[in-house]
Formats: sequence, structure tokens, C-alpha cells
Amino acid sequence: MESSIIGFSRGDASAKTFKAVNPAKNASIDVNYAMASEEEVDEACRLASDAAFEMAQFSGNRKAEFLNELADGVDGIVEDLVSVMIAETGLPEPRVRAETGRTSGQLRMFARLVEAGHWVDARIDRAQPDRKPLPKPDLRAMLRPIGPVAVFCASNFPLAFSVAGGDSASAWAAGCPVIVKAHHAHPGTALLVGNVVVATMRKCNWPEGAFSLLFGEGRTVGQSLVTNKNIKAVGFTGSRSGGRALFDLANAREEPIPVFAEMSSVNPVFVLPGMRPEDIDSFSTGLAGSATLGVGQFCTNPGIVFHPAGEFGEQLKTAYVEKMKKMDAGVMLHQGICDSYNQGIQKLTSCEGVTVEHRFNDSVEREGSKAGPCVLSTSVNEFLGDSAMMDEVFGPSTLLVAYDDLTQLIRVVSTMEGQLTASVFGVEADLKNDQGLVDHLEMVAGRILFNQFPTGVEVCESMVHGGPYPATTDGRSTSVGTGAILRFARPVCYQGFPDEWLPEELKEGNPLGLERCES
Ligand code: NAP
Repeated sequence: MESSIIGFSRGDASAKTFKAVNPAKNASIDVNYAMASEEEVDEACRLASDAAFEMAQFSGNRKAEFLNELADGVDGIVEDLVSVMIAETGLPEPRVRAETGRTSGQLRMFARLVEAGHWVDARIDRAQPDRKPLPKPDLRAMLRPIGPVAVFCASNFPLAFSVAGGDSASAWAAGCPVIVKAHHAHPGTALLVGNVVVATMRKCNWPEGAFSLLFGEGRTVGQSLVTNKNIKAVGFTGSRSGGRALFDLANAREEPIPVFAEMSSVNPVFVLPGMRPEDIDSFSTGLAGSATLGVGQFCTNPGIVFHPAGEFGEQLKTAYVEKMKKMDAGVMLHQGICDSYNQGIQKLTSCEGVTVEHRFNDSVEREGSKAGPCVLSTSVNEFLGDSAMMDEVFGPSTLLVAYDDLTQLIRVVSTMEGQLTASVFGVEADLKNDQGLVDHLEMVAGRILFNQFPTGVEVCESMVHGGPYPATTDGRSTSVGTGAILRFARPVCYQGFPDEWLPEELKEGNPLGLERCES
């Protein structure tokens, strides 16, 4: 029997239990995980609150040491991850290895960020005692950690958006304790990484409350965590209903707290009139690869494609269907995701004016949680008449929408919900003649791509993995890239302080050599 990690202790092993399920066979994996009790959630939050004060004083170097050690530790368990994670998620071995590298790479990226230190956005307004009519006081501001952060593991990123993934890494980098709620689908993967986090905390002499890992249901353990008064922010990747429920709970607290939930996006693709017929083949190949990557289970999966109607559009549709017919079925992350995929397709096919162009052979799909590609088509007028077609179908499906003129696309974008990405395909002249399409896309999407597909999110300084609701609950944020740290920090201003009592980042002599905004 395995149980939650509560600081440096383990949870009660005799509590209510659950098992993970191997989605390739839909068979239980024979390890019991004890669900955390209310008392254990409280204890994890109390420890985190105690640790928050100490961690807020950590230097960039101290945080970087921990993040680098943790990165090495995660790389060091890759062979164990291969066996456990494949069994729990159905993801293939190359993906497990690649995601391990992405996870350790993210940790090292945040280590470099906090070592350099500029992220604190230091601002200095020197005193002007002789200013008329009133003297100006000395004002200095910088970002400080927000406090304990609750992180929900994502089903579709068991490493890179789970225990030591992007949310946790950015919270630790900011100086915040982290309490992780494991996903029910991959508890063994979570525990392997959790053990590495604890070993790293001991090695780096971090306080006990810097990390806990809780097993249990979202509706009990997850909700208790979000409503606990010691939690000051939440990081989440998953369904719109789950993210929204947590957002509403957090806002109904006596002390509301920010929830950074990344939830739902159809990642529209716009083929503009300038695309040449000879480009259809490479476009279709790229689109089919992007739409079926990871059995379509990426947040940036391109779900809806708008293309010109007429002969060009028919050629594109035929080429794309041919490519998708060659794509195999794959094991989805868990039965629930597979069921919602099938329900989503059923809902789309029942919409007025939608034609099924290709649906993978059902009998093969019935093995375990397997699902295959699907291509549907409709016209832009039918699309505009039924908002149900705008809903995310999480999996390898594409809805092709034929349009007649660009003004229809502007109408589509004006009624569109917030998106993580929007991709535009064509030639440069299309951008000049797009009647403001790209300007409209800026209003709804976090990332706009030209002649590129949205999957394969680069982890770097400039990445924006966010967008207006329902892409996220806070369109001012990104959950990928160095900007993710800003979610877990808040500005504090020091007015009239003697130099000796200011944080190093704000001292007159600039001992850390930071880039600062000074006047
Ligand atoms: P999920 O059901 O939202 O679960 C994510 C986490 O939130 C789990 O830990 C879950 O707990 C918890 N949770 C869910 N509902 C909750 C609630 N009402 N209150 C408190 N906690 C709650 O997401 P999923 O299992 O990853 O996938 C389900 C669907 O989410 C997919 O079919 C897909 O539509 C969508 N999804 C979207 C993205 C995206 O990036 N756009 C990514 C992944 C999934 P349990 O462990 O108890 O389930």
C-alpha cells in the first residue's frame, strides 16, 4: 500500500484506497494508493504555511541549487518512469523519455532564471526631497512569492505538468511551497517523482513544508486543498468543468485566491486564399501529424480548420482525409478521456449540416481505451448557426469548415471563445489582405502562428501558453516558459526604507547586478 507524502512523513496507509488502470487493457494495476484524509490535507497546508516564510527569504542561488539537483534526480529515474508511466498512461517509450527531458529542462530553465535574478522586476524611484509642491519619497518595488501553491497534475502531461512539472517548478522558483494533488490516472508516476523531490529537499536542506503530494479524488482532496486558508494560489491543467469548479470555489472563499487553470481550446487553423494548390499536400501531411500527435491529447491540438470553399477546398478536404485514413488508432490516457472523445464526436455528428468524412474502424477502437482519427466537415454558415461546433473535442478529430469570403472569418473570430493558439496559413500577401483577421485573433488567442502548426510548445522566454477564458481562467498568464513564474509572485513596494533593510535586489549599490528600472 502506498500513501500520500506529507512533508517528510507518509499519510495513513489504512485509509480508503484506489488503483490505477492500464488504459491499453483497461485492467487495474495491482498497487493500492491510500486517499488523503481531511486531517492530512490540513497538515500538508499547515507545513506549507510554516515553510512559506523561510522560503520567501531564499536567495536565487539557493533556489537554483534545488531546481538543478531536482532536474538531475528526475533524469536519474528515467528507467523506472519508462515502466511505470507506460503502464499507467499508454504513452509510448520515446514520449516518456522526451517528457522526462522536457521536465528536467524546465527545472534547469527556472534555475537559470532565478540565478540571474532579473525576473523580480526591480523598480526604483529615488527620493526627491526638494520636489515642489511636495517632496517625493524613496520607493522601491519588486516581486515576492505569493505563498503556498496547490498544483493539480495533468492527465496529458504526467511529468511536464505534474509533480515536478512547469507549475511546481515556477512556484518553487518564485519561492513558494507546493502541494500537489496527484491525478487518479498516474499515481505511481507521481510517487516516483515525489520521492525524488523529498530526497532533493533533504539534500538541499529545504524546509519540510516545501512539498507534499496528496492522493485522492478531486471532489474531496482537491477541493479541500483549494479551500484551505493556507493555500494562496492554484495551478491546474485539465477539463473546463474541473478548472471552472476550482476557480468558483477559490473565488467563493472568504479570502479569494488566483486560480491559473488551463482548460479548453480548439486551436483554430485558418487557410487563407493565397495558399497554392501545390502546397495542399505538405499542409495536409503537417495537419494530420499535428492533429493525431499523442492521440490528439495535446492542449494545442488543432481541432477546427477553416478553408476556402470551391475546388481548392474540395482538393484540400480529399487530401486531408487520405492522410488521416493512414493514421492509426492509439491508446488514450484513460477511459474517461476516451469516452468523452467518442461523446464529443457523436455530439458534432448530430449537429445540422455536419458530414462525417472519415471515422476510424470502431472494432479496433474497442480494445482498451483506444481511439482513432475522425474528420468531419461543414460550411461556415452552419458553423456560425450552432455554437456546439465550437466545443473542444479532446482527441484526434478535425472539423473542416468551408468559407466563401474573409468577412465570414472575421464573424467567426468575433464570436469565438478564448484560445491557446490560432494558426494562419497562406502567403505574406494574405496578411496584408486579411481584412484584419490577425488583429481580431490577437483579441482571442495567446499565441498566433504563421504557416506553422500549434503542437510542439517550445519551452522558452517568449512562449505564451495561455489565452482568454476558457483557454485559461486568467488570460494575463502563461503556464509554459519563464513567464510562468509571474503567476506565483506579487509586487511589494518598500517606501522610505534605509538601504541596509532593503532586499538585496533593491539596494542602492545593486549588489546582484540586476537590470532594474531606475529613476
Ligand atoms: P479533469 O477531469 O479536469 O481532471 C484533472 C484534475 O482535476 C484531476 O486531479 C481531477 O481529480 C480534478 N478534478 C476534476 N474535476 C474536479 C472538480 N469538480 N473539483 C475538484 N477537482 C476536480 O481532466 P482529465 O482527467 O485530465 O481529462 C478529462 C477531460 O479534460 C478530457 O476529456 C479533456 O476534455 C479535458 N482536458 C483538456 C486538456 C487541455 O489542455 N485542454 C488537458 C487535459 C484534459 P480526479 O483525479 O479525481 O479525477
